[in-house]
Amino acid sequence: MRASRFFISTLKEAPSDAEIVSHQLMMRAGMIKRLGSGIYTYMPTGLRVIRKVENIIREEMNRAGAIELLMPLVQPAELWQETGRWDKMGPELMRVKDRHGREFAIQPTSEEVVTDVVRSELKSYRQLPINFYHIQTKFRDERRPRFGLMRGREFTMKDAYSFDRDVEGMQKSYATMFDAYTRIFTRFGLKFRAVAADNGAIGGTGSHEFHVIASTGEDALVYCPDSDYAANIEAAEALATGERGAATQQLAKTSTPGKTKCEAVAELLNIPLQHHVKSIALTVENEGKKRYFLLLLRADHELNEIKVSKVAGLKEFRFSTEAEIVEAYGTVPGYLGPIGTKLPVTVVADRTVANMADFVCGANELDYHYTGANWGRDCAEPIVADLRNVVEGDASPDGKGVLAIERGIEVGHVFQLGTAYSEAMGATFLDEAGKPAPLQMGCYGIGVTRILGAAIEQNYDDKGIIWPDAIAPFELALCPMGLDRSEMVKEQTEKLYAELLAAGVDVIVDDRGLRPGAMFADWELIGVPHRVVIGERGLKEGNLEYQGRRDEAATSVPVGDMVAFIK
Ligand code: ATP
Ligand code: MG
Ligand code: MG
Ligand code: MG
Repeated sequence: MRASRFFISTLKEAPSDAEIVSHQLMMRAGMIKRLGSGIYTYMPTGLRVIRKVENIIREEMNRAGAIELLMPLVQPAELWQETGRWDKMGPELMRVKDRHGREFAIQPTSEEVVTDVVRSELKSYRQLPINFYHIQTKFRDERRPRFGLMRGREFTMKDAYSFDRDVEGMQKSYATMFDAYTRIFTRFGLKFRAVAADNGAIGGTGSHEFHVIASTGEDALVYCPDSDYAANIEAAEALATGERGAATQQLAKTSTPGKTKCEAVAELLNIPLQHHVKSIALTVENEGKKRYFLLLLRADHELNEIKVSKVAGLKEFRFSTEAEIVEAYGTVPGYLGPIGTKLPVTVVADRTVANMADFVCGANELDYHYTGANWGRDCAEPIVADLRNVVEGDASPDGKGVLAIERGIEVGHVFQLGTAYSEAMGATFLDEAGKPAPLQMGCYGIGVTRILGAAIEQNYDDKGIIWPDAIAPFELALCPMGLDRSEMVKEQTEKLYAELLAAGVDVIVDDRGLRPGAMFADWELIGVPHRVVIGERGLKEGNLEYQGRRDEAATSVPVGDMVAFIK
């Protein structure tokens, strides 16, 4: 690629609505352009990264035996009514009508359509197992679209769906996808962790989230450095033992097996389980004693104020944020003072790096996590440092060490769905005895466009983005100095450009005729991981200058060795 024929449009300043680093840098690097809330044009540089991400995913999905198809963006309401998700999804599901008044959903995922494909196309156990995937635009009318591509409304997802004859088969398909995801995120060159997760609204029997590790992540991950144990904080809380798990244990005693924590608390308190019920487990230090309790939070769609009206031992409990919370449940009565004590609590729904606290509350519905809950008024300096049910240094549930906590960004999610969809939609196959049986299903998502944001949150410095090689928009920027003045530079640039292309390096030659400072600043901002500078002075000594994006200084490399040096 020649920069003069490409489209590069960098900015000195990020727009003021860009709150986190990845959003700011993607805007400044000209990778995305905002069209509306949560809706972006992927500009040429950004699209190159997206394509590289997609290609790696596609290669690994194909390698794992999944089969690509492409399901429609616009899907008839009738299919969504069959599974009940037309009503269950609430306002996150974008609905449109055609000229005849017929209703359609714009897909947030494709369980219904793929199950419809399978129920009509798949006849026999001989065709199983099968796994279909696509890489397709999604639309979710997120309550708070923000952080650029991280939480968009229109975004790209790879979603795969496996079908098996029995639970054992489903678990095998799940394990295959788990391995494929591990290869995919390894190939991206990102630091990531797979954690056991709650199943959220989808329901089912097993689930893992893949998180890119970044201090600005929305989720807290609990893991044991000395063993395989890793869970998101909700799952870890559910598994917590001892005094710390008291709240959860009490729940386990009183609730019906198979219920989510939120359902169980709702049942315990005999209150209706509405759309958005969350339970949060808090650890509070009070007069040298640690206390634990669960809060049940119920939020409506129009979120203006949080009010918690019922905590054991507390008459009033106020949250100030954009959300509305009406019920809370405490397992340790009187722990925060006598009945009637008022406690100011701040839930910071609008998380920014500066005010981020170390606490995430659970959600039983997609995108209803609250982050940054704090005890006290000042959210930047929590009065009680640790509000988690599970804390760093706790014994790992597997007994193999102590727990550590770090933050992550959910970039992938794998679920064992069982027969929830196939039963609702009558998707069966004929077993060996010729009898119809419901298909066992799994679903597997990767947030393609979110990967860009997550990769940047993990890899940047004050000059800009630092892409891992595998997903960089260009691997190498070839920067000639004084191209218009020096024949020698011009000749060598063309020669090296051709050689690098022939060696399979994704190179862009900067033939825009910019001053070196401006040229370097652009490539540093855009995050190209390798740079080669061709200057007359160096050439006279037979040298070129190489500098990796993380290197402090350039290295002189003999002209003839450069291609080998790069490879
Ligand atoms: P989140 O908890 O962040 O809302 P989710 O659990 O609702 O995500 P899934 O339904 O598991 O998302 O979808 C699979 C993947 O799609 C997620 O792991 C994430 O990487 C990506 N994704 C989900 N919502 C968005 C969004 N609004 N913008 C970009 N990517 C998204
Ligand atoms: Mg999630
Ligand atoms: Mg969501
Ligand atoms: Mg998820």
